[in-house]
Amino acid sequence: MPLFIIVFGTRWHFRPRKGGFRGYLTCQTCQGPEFFVEKDAFKAFTIYWWAAFRTEDGGTLVECSRCGGRFCVPPELETAAPLVGVPLVEGA
Ligand SMILES: [Zn+2]
Repeated sequence: MPLFIIVFGTRWHFRPRKGGFRGYLTCQTCQGPEFFVEKDAFKAFTIYWWAAFRTEDGGTLVECSRCGGRFCVPPELETAAPLVGVPLVEGA
């Protein structure tokens, strides 16, 4: 009898948000201004490496391109419109 190993479960995924923020923010880990990309966070049911369907919406976050650290979207970003290409450097 052949043995089938099926890998499935739920895990978090992070995808760059369409029209989302791309610019410089102060990274708490890197201790300085780094390039951040706004991403959608969502939990999806996956079979092997295929995200079959979303099970939970995690909202949006910003990810540091240097250390990969993920942080909550700063309130300044949520109120700023449009978000596209608005550079924001704290304490500059
Ligand atoms: Zn960083």
